[in-house]
Amino acid sequence: MSATDKTASAPDRAVVTRFAPSPTGFLHLGGARTALFNLLYARHHGGTFRLRIEDTDRARSTQPAIEAILNGMRWLGLDWDGEEVFQFARADRHAEVAHAMVASGHAYRCYLTQEELEAMRAAAQAAKQPLRVRSPWRDRTDHPADKPFVVRLRAPTEGATTIHDEVQGAVTVQNAELDDLVLLRSDGTPTYMLAVVVDDNDMGVTHVIRGDDHLNNAFRQLPIYRAMGWAEPVYAHIPLIHGSDGAKLSKRHGAVGIEAYRDDLGILPEALGNYLLRLGWGHGDDEIIAREDAIRWFDLDAVGKSASRFDLKKLEHLNGHYIRATDDERLAALVAEKLGFDHDDTRRSILLAAMPSLKPRAANINELTEATAFLFAARPLMVEDAARPLLDGDAPVLLARLHTALDAVHNWDTETTEAAVRSVAEEAGVKLGQVAQPLRVALTGRKTSPGIFDVLVLLGRDESLARIADHIPARGD
Ligand code: GLU
Repeated sequence: MSATDKTASAPDRAVVTRFAPSPTGFLHLGGARTALFNLLYARHHGGTFRLRIEDTDRARSTQPAIEAILNGMRWLGLDWDGEEVFQFARADRHAEVAHAMVASGHAYRCYLTQEELEAMRAAAQAAKQPLRVRSPWRDRTDHPADKPFVVRLRAPTEGATTIHDEVQGAVTVQNAELDDLVLLRSDGTPTYMLAVVVDDNDMGVTHVIRGDDHLNNAFRQLPIYRAMGWAEPVYAHIPLIHGSDGAKLSKRHGAVGIEAYRDDLGILPEALGNYLLRLGWGHGDDEIIAREDAIRWFDLDAVGKSASRFDLKKLEHLNGHYIRATDDERLAALVAEKLGFDHDDTRRSILLAAMPSLKPRAANINELTEATAFLFAARPLMVEDAARPLLDGDAPVLLARLHTALDAVHNWDTETTEAAVRSVAEEAGVKLGQVAQPLRVALTGRKTSPGIFDVLVLLGRDESLARIADHIPARGD
């Protein structure tokens, strides 16, 4: 295969793109990015973005595996147009095309037996050549009446095929390197290579944007378009995502399914979408790119030719940004869902009130959820080990004074409570921090929390006083 520099060109027909995942049980990060690029390209050019589920592997294509893809796409806001197409249900149509190709001479019935194929494979191996089947049945007409056969493509044998790929540039393959691929198996079922082309044609797909692991397939698929006299799609094969070590992203690099980023890492869909967009496509130095801007700016000429490396740190950084930019209602709802408080209005409103002070510190939804734990903790609070020393020494005495001062506050807000806490520090002749630290531990069980006056207000007067009292030795002790 040889390649020259790429050239991006404007589409000359109404754009139809598609995402064509095979259900594997989850939506792969790379698949999500492919879907996103297809969506953006279609939206940018005022076209249509379709979804086709390639469910011909019946063992893997379970309902949950299909749902995982649909849900993942919905979560990422990758809204497809029209009904999703299921490939398996179209097998008759695929077979019909194969038969039409036999009738027109672009395909032929091949009666090679397993043994004959094995012998060809062994000969190819001995010659250290890949097996390229050119069956003797290409030219034979003495078809046996009752023998099983497969339908093979009569692939071009001479000359070369060049694909002007929008990302890879012009890529040429000598036709002698192609084989007469099987279109229909001996049981009459279509092969993947045939099904993809028939479906893309019937769905009116004009631009095939997919991972570059499919570039070789394009050379085997094009002859099918040509045999049928169908309009050829524009191809754009995008480089795969690699892990931090430069190898193709796989499970050993960590999670590859997007639901793990949502559930286990607490990533927001906008953050993941923005991250995937920047992975392999760029618009100057812009890092934070809203979907509307992505649609306005996206085109294939700015898709890089080399593989990009997945960087969790960058994703988390973007996530922190999106958390701070997200309104409190939505964040509170996400945390409530994690905590199972979806239907508890009281707790939901406590969460809502806490969001402004909690969200600046959270890098992900799990951290945010974790940071709300003190709000609902039962008394007496569990104190984390690292915070315990802060309750020693003068702390009980200071807490007793704080209790007295705060007990006198009735109009409970951040200002009145701050005045009370400051007065205790002044009277004791210590810095505010020396009073605030044991107070924080008494109220939250931790060394770190939102601002202490916010905590007092979020917990309310009664709960705050009770938590402080839990750390004051009873009179007479
Ligand atoms: N079903 C194929 C895959 O999941 C994609 C086929 C295509 O995009 O042409 O890799």
